[in-house]
Amino acid sequence: MRKHCTMSELLAVRDGEGSAWARAHLEECPFCQQEMDMLYGRVAALRALPAHRPPRDRWAAIKAQADPTNLFHRNQNVPPAPVADERA
Ligand SMILES: [Zn+2]
Repeated sequence: MRKHCTMSELLAVRDGEGSAWARAHLEECPFCQQEMDMLYGRVAALRALPAHRPPRDRWAAIKAQADPTNLFHRNQNVPPAPVADERA
């Protein structure tokens, strides 16, 4: 016998797609109503986070620091990784 809505069921109800059982249960169950309120609170808190976007004017500084001769030969002095011995 089922007791409470799962998080998936709560999300479906929030999106207007919940099962009849989940919608009916949510209307009468304080525990699931509290879970739904917390879900809305979390979504609101996540939406309130500041947007982080990379600065768009960094390429000139990066290009000035990059040594094009190192980009293609960076790993030449690193010995090759040992090959696993298939006989072992
Ligand atoms: Zn419940």
